[in-house]
Amino acid sequence: MGLSYPMSDADREIQAAARALADELLPHEVTAELHGGELPDGLLDTHRRRVAELGFEAVNMPKELGGGGFTAFQQVLVQEQIGRVTNALGWVVPTIRGERRECYAITEEGAGSDVDAIRATATRDGDGYRLDGVKWHVTSFNHADHVFFQAKLAGGPNAGAHAMFVVDTDTPGIRVVRTPAYSHTYPYHHPVVAFEDVRVPAGQLIGAEGDGMTFAYEWFRYERLMIAARALGAAERLIEESTAFAKDRQAYGQPIFGYQAVQFMLADSLTELWAARLMTYQTAHGIDADLDVKVQHAQCSMAKLYASEMAGRVADRAVQIFGGRGYMRENVAERFYRELRVDRIWEGTSEIQRAIIADQLAKRGVGRLTG
Ligand SMILES: Cc1cc2nc3c(=O)[nH]c(=O)nc-3n(C[C@H](O)[C@H](O)[C@H](O)COP(=O)(O)OP(=O)(O)OC[C@H]3O[C@@H](n4cnc5c(N)ncnc54)[C@H](O)[C@@H]3O)c2cc1C
Repeated sequence: MGLSYPMSDADREIQAAARALADELLPHEVTAELHGGELPDGLLDTHRRRVAELGFEAVNMPKELGGGGFTAFQQVLVQEQIGRVTNALGWVVPTIRGERRECYAITEEGAGSDVDAIRATATRDGDGYRLDGVKWHVTSFNHADHVFFQAKLAGGPNAGAHAMFVVDTDTPGIRVVRTPAYSHTYPYHHPVVAFEDVRVPAGQLIGAEGDGMTFAYEWFRYERLMIAARALGAAERLIEESTAFAKDRQAYGQPIFGYQAVQFMLADSLTELWAARLMTYQTAHGIDADLDVKVQHAQCSMAKLYASEMAGRVADRAVQIFGGRGYMRENVAERFYRELRVDRIWEGTSEIQRAIIADQLAKRGVGRLTG
């Protein structure tokens, strides 16, 4: 096919279908941007139906659980294409059958990177638990019907240990405190949510008491790789669009692509994209090959760190190449410039990724982590 990265026909088909889906979403970005992230009625349902037709529901679930049974590499391919689209229009690709939507309530006002500092509590109460706490940045709470709530056990034999619960968002005692505005224009909000005397049966504890952090780590590993994947898609789109613009835009009697200052920005962006792509793809292959989970952990952090910072640099250069147009909300570079910033913060900041990588380097050495 003349394409540079070796992959199976099945992988290539998934990649092509995901790209087609992303291409269908692109024309709606500016409408979403100019309407607080919202699309006109009915459009979201149309997109959801398309996702179902293409078999992209539950891409992260095994077949036995009603998922697509995609490999980690195939999930990366899907998320990479989704990453080409701004305003979170690509979040239409759901888990499970899309009938239920989840959100995660881990972070608190006084506990972000340092998850162990959370003050939310889970107290044994008859055959269930009572949950209390105030959570920050609960992404998608306005669209979710269940929430994963992380707390520390208060009292009992496992006092102080972490526990995670799955709770319906309409359970009495759960309320939105406020919905702050963020840099990006997404339909998915990140409200502050209070849990006050929320009663849940013991069956809603995930795993056993003390397992809370295990689930958080598993989720982080998965999501860090997917952030890296989406960053690749964003960078690819930015490079494509800013290159096309540079070839067309005239200044001083010639296309600005003719100026070495512009060429070098694009050359750096392309080089960094390729490096990040190889890293991210290889990390996914390692997961599919059942590589030591600690090595996976370090490699997911390296992929997230490098790809998110790479995409930030690419967006910054793209704004520069577009000039004044790059500062307009109707321009893809302006939107990505804001949207990509959070990829260096959520699911572990760049500093936390570096701390994880350095810790693994000390324990396992260069060879184990880089081949
Ligand atoms: C848009 C958005 C959506 C989010 N969605 C969710 C969600 O759905 N659910 C959820 O639970 N959380 C969510 N978060 C929270 C996110 O995971 C945290 O913001 C992130 O982990 C950082 O925590 P913090 O904001 O408290 O910053 P802090 O942890 O206070 O960090 C502040 C600064 O200190 C640095 N720092 C902290 N510790 C160290 C260290 N040991 N070494 C070096 N530097 C350090 C950080 O890197 C950072 O630069 C979201 C955040 C945003 C912005």
